[in-house]
Amino acid sequence: MHRDRTTTGSPSALRRGACPTLAAPMQTGDGLLARLRPASGFFTVDAFLALLDAADAFGSGRLDITARGNLQIRGLRAESVAPLSAAIAGAGIMPCEGIAVEMPPLAGLDPSEVANSRPLARELADRIGDSGLHLAPKLAIIVDGGGRLHLDGVTADIKLVAQAASGQPLWHLLVGGQQTGLAGTGDEMIEAAMSVVGRIAACGPAARARDLPADRLPSSSSSLVKRDIAMSPVGRFDLGTHVVLGVAPTFGQMEAQAVRQLVLAAMAGGLSEVRLAPGRALLFVGPAGRETSALALLAKALGFVVEADDPALRIDACAGQRGCASARIDTHAVAEHLIAHAPALMDGSLDLHVSGCAKGCARPRAADLTLVAAFCDGQPGLGIVVGGRAGDSPVATKRLEDGACAITALGQWVAETIEKGESAAACLKRLGPARIAAAFSGARFNGIDHAGL
Ligand code: SF4
Repeated sequence: MHRDRTTTGSPSALRRGACPTLAAPMQTGDGLLARLRPASGFFTVDAFLALLDAADAFGSGRLDITARGNLQIRGLRAESVAPLSAAIAGAGIMPCEGIAVEMPPLAGLDPSEVANSRPLARELADRIGDSGLHLAPKLAIIVDGGGRLHLDGVTADIKLVAQAASGQPLWHLLVGGQQTGLAGTGDEMIEAAMSVVGRIAACGPAARARDLPADRLPSSSSSLVKRDIAMSPVGRFDLGTHVVLGVAPTFGQMEAQAVRQLVLAAMAGGLSEVRLAPGRALLFVGPAGRETSALALLAKALGFVVEADDPALRIDACAGQRGCASARIDTHAVAEHLIAHAPALMDGSLDLHVSGCAKGCARPRAADLTLVAAFCDGQPGLGIVVGGRAGDSPVATKRLEDGACAITALGQWVAETIEKGESAAACLKRLGPARIAAAFSGARFNGIDHAGL
């Protein structure tokens, strides 16, 4: 017997009588945090309302949507985890257990996808579950049939990507982000993916694709055609049979009370399903033709991002001092200062990260620029990391009271230095870390807004 471990498809584990459990909650600065991905890939609005009630009753009422599209329930205590699990089960939500096989959030709905990812993802998840292999809990596996919200921008240890060949989907295998040159039917690529899963397991229970010896991988050939960048999940999508409105909580964090208002309004407007999307978005799905402009206006009034070009979507920021006891800076204030006072950095070409401590919860991978709590001359400060993670050494630090000025100065310097037609990313690359550090820590503060963070 196996459980449904996919992130979409029918909740077959419910039918099989499996016992739903939340993945082991993690300790954070504001208590325990439970991460939830529904095995069905979506929530009914009724189930989502029940989940929000449970987050309020058993947690702090604060929730996050992660960059990969997982839901995090914050502020739990050890004794509140079991009643939260029971409430989630009572709402008919089956959490995805074991190794999740992720797929595009509009899988099965989007007429522009090359293939519906669901059947293949379910098959692969079941094969992995039945294999008995000991795999790293964070092993990331994606089945991507394409479409508007394809997952090219999401990293994975193993990826199956569909592209059309003579009108039929041809599935390509990627391992550790690299093409393997292997492509074939869905059945053939399940076998190929399982072979890689087995080789990863043979490297140890914590192994990832990066641990595979290079000579154990098939040789690469560039058979995969580069796709257009995926659309932002924020906005309205008319998909033929369905309409979707995507909104994003600012910096991925939201209060259950605010989301409840939004879900009730979506329900009243005939939208019956909630999905989560990579890019920290909340998707409301309903039948084609439903009006969504009033819902978008309400979302905006409640502080959600409703436009795909909103600069807040360009910044990964953790809860910071507004929700985490480990934080030493107000990450949201830093991010808002970046948006308001350093517009030259907000052209969309840069990956920006603001972190309340070196742990870097909001973005485990490197960013072009990371602003992180640091110490400067033994005092609380703000550091800037270039091309690295929150835990890497900053190229410069400023005392916290000078942090706002340093961000403004860096933005002004880029605005003055950037060449015609050049992006901010290209400009910073041309100038290099030493000059970025000089601009951030320099004495160019005359006439610059000194508003604190
Ligand atoms: S990175 Fe942010 S959310 Fe994570 S522990 Fe540090 S301050 Fe808290």
